[in-house]
Amino acid sequence: MLALTLDHIFLQQHAENKADALALLADILVKENLTTDDYLQGLLDRENQSTTYLGQGIAIPHGTQNSQDAILNTGVRIAHFPKGVDWGNDNTVYLAVAIATKSDEHLQVLQLLTSALNKEVKDDIRQAKTADDILAILNAMPESLVLHENLIQTGVKASDLDELAYHGYQLLKAQNLVSAGFLTNLSTKKAIFLQPNVWAVLGDTAVNQPAVAIVKNSQVIDFNQQKLQTLVLIANHSSLDQQKLQQLLDVLFQSDLTTDDRRKIAGQIQAKTIPDWQKQTVVVPNQHGLHARPATQLVNMVKGLSGEIKVAVDGVNFVSAKSLTNLLALGANYGQTLTFIAEPNSESEQALPKVIRAVKQGLGETVEPIVQSNAIDATSQSEIGENLTWVDPFVMPNAKPKGIGASQGVAVGQAVVITPKTYAYQQTSNDNQAEKTKLQQAIEQVKQSLEKLIKTAQKKEIAEIFTAHLALLDDPKLLSDVNQKIENNFTAPYAWHHCIEQTAKVQESLNNPLLAERAMDLRDVGDKVLALLCGENLAELPTDSYILVKHDLMPSDVARLDSRYVAGILTAVGGASSHSAIVARALGIPAVVGAGAQVLQVDRGTQILLNGLTGEFVINPKQPQIEHAIALQQSQQQFAKLALDTAQQPAITLDKHHIEVAVNIGDLKHAKDAVTKGAEGVGLLRTEFVFMKHNTMPDVQTQILDYKKVFEAMADRPVVVRTLDVGGDKPLPYLVINHEENPFLGVRGVRLTLRRPDIFKEQLTALVQASQGKDLRIMFPMIARLEEWQKACTILDDVLANNPHDKLQVGMMIEVPSAAIMAEKFAPYVDFFSIGTNDLTQYTLAIDRGHPVLSAEADGLHPSVLRLIDNTVKYAHKHGKWVGVCGELGADTEAIPVLLGLGVDELSVSLNQIPLVKMQIRNLSYQSCQSLATQALACDTATSVRALSQDFLSHHQQQGSLYEQ
Ligand code: PEP
Ligand code: MG
Repeated sequence: MLALTLDHIFLQQHAENKADALALLADILVKENLTTDDYLQGLLDRENQSTTYLGQGIAIPHGTQNSQDAILNTGVRIAHFPKGVDWGNDNTVYLAVAIATKSDEHLQVLQLLTSALNKEVKDDIRQAKTADDILAILNAMPESLVLHENLIQTGVKASDLDELAYHGYQLLKAQNLVSAGFLTNLSTKKAIFLQPNVWAVLGDTAVNQPAVAIVKNSQVIDFNQQKLQTLVLIANHSSLDQQKLQQLLDVLFQSDLTTDDRRKIAGQIQAKTIPDWQKQTVVVPNQHGLHARPATQLVNMVKGLSGEIKVAVDGVNFVSAKSLTNLLALGANYGQTLTFIAEPNSESEQALPKVIRAVKQGLGETVEPIVQSNAIDATSQSEIGENLTWVDPFVMPNAKPKGIGASQGVAVGQAVVITPKTYAYQQTSNDNQAEKTKLQQAIEQVKQSLEKLIKTAQKKEIAEIFTAHLALLDDPKLLSDVNQKIENNFTAPYAWHHCIEQTAKVQESLNNPLLAERAMDLRDVGDKVLALLCGENLAELPTDSYILVKHDLMPSDVARLDSRYVAGILTAVGGASSHSAIVARALGIPAVVGAGAQVLQVDRGTQILLNGLTGEFVINPKQPQIEHAIALQQSQQQFAKLALDTAQQPAITLDKHHIEVAVNIGDLKHAKDAVTKGAEGVGLLRTEFVFMKHNTMPDVQTQILDYKKVFEAMADRPVVVRTLDVGGDKPLPYLVINHEENPFLGVRGVRLTLRRPDIFKEQLTALVQASQGKDLRIMFPMIARLEEWQKACTILDDVLANNPHDKLQVGMMIEVPSAAIMAEKFAPYVDFFSIGTNDLTQYTLAIDRGHPVLSAEADGLHPSVLRLIDNTVKYAHKHGKWVGVCGELGADTEAIPVLLGLGVDELSVSLNQIPLVKMQIRNLSYQSCQSLATQALACDTATSVRALSQDFLSHHQQQGSLYEQ
């Protein structure tokens, strides 16, 4: 920052004319060691290009681009000419401020000097006796026209001048330079052209202090049949007249600016740092990122505080932390760094440490604290683009209808079909005030009904959703966007709908599916207000038992439902993790989502049967189908009860073949319950949890404590421990891994631990020490090549040399096709294989296992995967080794007989599946499973394998399908 001090002011100077004055100034600059003699030519050239007279007897002589080399040090010196110097055009200069800057600092000098433009200071300057007098005039703060880097923002995403003005307003308001009425009274229609792409807009209402904000859009946009990119938004006082202002703008944006000057201004415009604001950072500890619930907590915490508080992901593009939509649009993921800044001398500034603490503690969610997160690259938010509409290329014309089972249970009832409502409204209005009042009233009414719903909510999850809705209606950014549109003569419904849609689309375009789903909440609450604005009431629901059929389920739809009357829910779109699915589950209402648009064609009153477990549904079911479905549900319930009652019995087939059923553990809490649920051991201990729950790498002793808990809970049962399987898509916040284009094909699992033998050895040491006398089975994840297996074993041998273990088996996971294909080569060395069908399927079919569109096609019953399993089992058994399956396929009812038939020795499944899997095995014949497997291996598609298995099960078990009657 350039500083002006008393000894920079040279009083009682005299010059005959402008050239003399410039020579005098150049002389001062040289004596002060700021420039060489050559700078004088620069001052003269600059004056010839255009005058540096600013107004009120002040000029700001400075050099040209060509004279930059003559600058030795940056600085400003002021010469006081009490008698005045003729500066041309009838202007007399009493104060010449000579500037020597190589960078863009002269804008700061301008800021200081613009104070003079605000007042009649010419006489005061002329009569000044001391340097103090001059400084006092220049520093006359209350009336100074503020322009500094906090008032400059680039990369703004606005679609028109109004939106750009809104951003400028936010900057001014954040500095308390203007108040609420400023924007409402701004007339963007009267924009002043400054230079190509640069326009100025003046506002003079609710101005606390004259100021200039400069906002630059990311793209050039059309305005008045011309182009616009940069807006100079001026908060004008009556004392700042147009002419003086124009002079300032001329200096800032004069058309004859040199390229370099333009660059300097552009450079200044790009400066986005906010150095004077308190700044603190915190890492997002929430597993699902800063989604609606924690974000709502944050908004509620800061919205009442005076002063602005802003937040950005990884320090770029700050948004107000008081705006829920802004927070959600940040798309902050787990492990990303949030930077908070707070306005100086405000309550927000005082509250900053508290805010940081609250974020660290998860904003109402249970989280593990994180201290450092340099392992994760900022997730780039996808550019907003057109949404692609996918068609499902594999829907068979006569396929039985099926959706996604979102909430278990069988339901039957009359359809109540609610199709999306279209609202009719005028687009423009002449009465802005009336529109604003209408909007206010509609919002108030919706808020009241939400408050009532929060109070009467049957479940905590539902109350939380409505609290988030309430916060959306209080969102200052949303409200100000809508008001701005109304100001531009749009009607309240048009403005409201436009802004809701715009915000929802931004959220949908983010990488994070959870945040994208929150767009639904926004539309939900948006529709309620829109309905009121259009004089519509929300559809009344019947009070007798029915199946609700909708395009998509809004959370509030579910919450408004009375579970006494709603037998089930069927939607055209949606996923199992949507809010509505969560709420449906919480209310215990059977639900099938994503059933396709054809369900909306059903007439009200048509009977529907659905199974929320399998996703099946039948329109107009026949009576026997209904009876069968009800019987099926009852038998499922009985089956589950019986399974639990007999959970301790071994899983021995009808023809006496024993399959070991073990538990997958990814959380210590589950270890104890596993034994009660019938686990014969741990088939997969996902040790990541030990590492994830700490915020730095846990040392050997810390790991031992956790591992011991599992070994103790399992008593003498075998425990298969998988060594650390992080990296790629599962980052450890404190472990630095460079950004990878294809994380699933990157440094994952054993590839990572082989590259960090220190971590690997510590984990192996902890495992061996924690399990003395116990049945320890260690396996390495993601082995693809024999060299990796050998290397991992060498490291283990090193550890065992100092920590012997007498009950140890060493195996590997089969998750990569190369390992399955080469099982013959691995089998002699391993003690066992454990097949990770989740990854094996993903790598075999080349489908990302979490892909939002494709993952349903990644079926582990595909014959290609089965052949790999077959190959693995064949060579393992040849060498007398055992094989387990620890992927999700191991608990899939239709897959179990096939896996048994392929000769798998152990199934490791999640806690609640254990009794069911054991019970199913006890009802199967091993021999029949073997012939089923032989047929499955010969199938062409996963669908035909499933059909085969369903057929098999319908003959061998009492677990039918809705379609069977
Ligand atoms: C698997 O890939 O099937 C597996 C069990 O490992 P994870 O799901 O932990 O990757
Ligand atoms: Mg895996």
